[in-house]
Amino acid sequence: MINKIAIIMAMREEAKPIIEHFNLLPTKDLFDQQLPMEVYSNSNIFIILNGKDPIYHVESIGTQSAVITTLSVIQKIQPDLIINAGTAGGFAKRGGKIGEVYSAKSGVCFHDKRIPLGDYAAMGLGNYNCLEIPNLSQKLGLKQGVVTTGNSLDIIETDEKIIDSYKGELKDMEAAAIAMICQFYNMPLIILKSITDIVDGPHPIHEEFMENLELASHNLKEKCQQLIHEIQGKTIDQVN
Ligand code: SAH
Repeated sequence: MINKIAIIMAMREEAKPIIEHFNLLPTKDLFDQQLPMEVYSNSNIFIILNGKDPIYHVESIGTQSAVITTLSVIQKIQPDLIINAGTAGGFAKRGGKIGEVYSAKSGVCFHDKRIPLGDYAAMGLGNYNCLEIPNLSQKLGLKQGVVTTGNSLDIIETDEKIIDSYKGELKDMEAAAIAMICQFYNMPLIILKSITDIVDGPHPIHEEFMENLELASHNLKEKCQQLIHEIQGKTIDQVN
């Protein structure tokens, strides 16, 4: 039965509307003190932010932080299910529009981990499972898409070719890393992504990202709240 839900998010700005909606309170001393993650919780909903990088003093973004957070969440919180909720770049050529919220299709890849050494190539690219929710997506008005993860906000031609090879629809910096750890532990994972910027559009990504962060975070909160309402009390098999 799904009771305890952990929502992993990269940025404070993305998480603020959800923290406020559920009246979550800062919760100290769950994780190793050396690590920057921040936890907000009530009895059964936890939001975990990667927190401020202790060396560079900005939000910790990217796959390294995502791995530490996910591992800590699984070990210390032991949730029944993890949701990775965040923002992502969309692709105009695949119908992506600012503010739209997607659930991920299973098969989350890395587009910038290129290791052309026999069997290592597949490990580099990755293709990690997540829980697909086609019926719930339809009910909640979510699109479904292929999520692709890398450690850069911008995109270079090589990355784009790789993303095109599997028709990636949502480009982020955490999901595949979270999915990898969840798969190690057989932890059910639902990924929700809200589009802040159009990767193949006319505007510089970082400007578009900042302009649309509030709208995308608001829409993400709406869908995340509805999703939690739908899945709480169900078994994993009943979530689809
Ligand atoms: N806070 C920074 C930028 C954040 S990086 C700033 O002030 O400029 C972007 C965050 O949103 C990452 O956590 C990533 O997962 C997601 N994201 C949004 N659009 C993205 C894109 N086009 N490419 C990769 N990640 C993106």
